[in-house]
Amino acid sequence: MAGGRVTERAYRPAWAEVDLSAVRANAAALSELAPLCAVVKANAYGHGAVDVAKAALAGGASWLAVALVEEGVQLRDAGIDAPVLVLAEPTADAMAEAYALGLTPTLYTENGAKTAAGAAGGEPWPVHVKVDTGMHRVGASPADVDAVVDAVVTSGSLVFDGLWTHLAVADDAGQDDFTEEQLSRFEAVRSRLTGTGAVPRMVHAANSAGALAHPLARYDLIRCGIALYGHRPALALTPSVELRPAMSLKARASYVRELDAGERISYGRRYETSQRTTIATVPLGYADGVTRRLFDVGGQVLVGGRRCPIAGVVTMDQLMVDCGTDADVHVGDEVVLIGRQGDEEITAWEVAELLGTISYEVLCAVGPRVPRVYIGR
Ligand SMILES: *Cc1c(COP(=O)(O)O)cnc(C)c1O
Repeated sequence: MAGGRVTERAYRPAWAEVDLSAVRANAAALSELAPLCAVVKANAYGHGAVDVAKAALAGGASWLAVALVEEGVQLRDAGIDAPVLVLAEPTADAMAEAYALGLTPTLYTENGAKTAAGAAGGEPWPVHVKVDTGMHRVGASPADVDAVVDAVVTSGSLVFDGLWTHLAVADDAGQDDFTEEQLSRFEAVRSRLTGTGAVPRMVHAANSAGALAHPLARYDLIRCGIALYGHRPALALTPSVELRPAMSLKARASYVRELDAGERISYGRRYETSQRTTIATVPLGYADGVTRRLFDVGGQVLVGGRRCPIAGVVTMDQLMVDCGTDADVHVGDEVVLIGRQGDEEITAWEVAELLGTISYEVLCAVGPRVPRVYIGR
């Protein structure tokens, strides 16, 4: 079919290199803390859901988690039969497919539980119930969760497989008292339910930050995304386990020329050469996830093992780099936007800090037009 062709061809020398041996190693290291659920939503934070899911399972993960039923479908279509937790309550029209594919839905409304029971049609279907202990995104409030659990256990179909919650500030040591508050609200719900005879097979609360920084949050399963990809959840959080970044964003210089001092580069002519210099063009742009604003905030790339400034605003498909007076740069030379080159490294966190965001967003931004190249299989 013609539709697939554009991405199957990779004439443009630009790619995201994903080291699956790093994913496996990170999964193995995290699995030492508690049984691991590898969070592969959003195309595994841009790394590629299917390949990452397989690597995480090979490294020791026992569960996968996705945000959408659609993402679970993609994993099942690829032949992955591990347990898959859907992190939000499936919409009514997605419930039948979630059941048919053996995904584990999260439920937090009585209506959701009824819809799920209907979809399962009397067959046993393990589900997880989510309680909102303070994040206030989704989840039944502690006051309402009993009714949801009751709808599950009396459904004659649904199996109360899990009870879970989500931490809002586990990555911020300055707010540890709120994390403790969330965990104690969670414990209160759990013991109340247990008192009524509703005992979930497993409980879980930790994201990467919870898993790394809050041992009490680990329970029966840790739901790790960012740490699986080799990044700390926050810059100030020094991980207790060694993590290896899995993704590098790379390209090859597509055009190189010398410019005199006083020349101005890119749209708006906002970068001015201060000396005669070598300017390299790199075939990646904001349509690929390299934010246009990266120029304004002093973004750099690696060329020839050296840091070089982005010269002028990033355009849709290309950006320019000032390689300096003494540069020995040629068309075809490797340019690293995220990752290592020689002794230098630009981390996703470095780019995120410049842009006032978090590594998660930098990774997820790498667009579908960028081929993923897998190494370390
Ligand atoms: C995305 C997500 C996670 C993973 O978070 P990380 O900080 O990347 O580890 C865990 N749990 C839920 C509910 C999520 O939405």
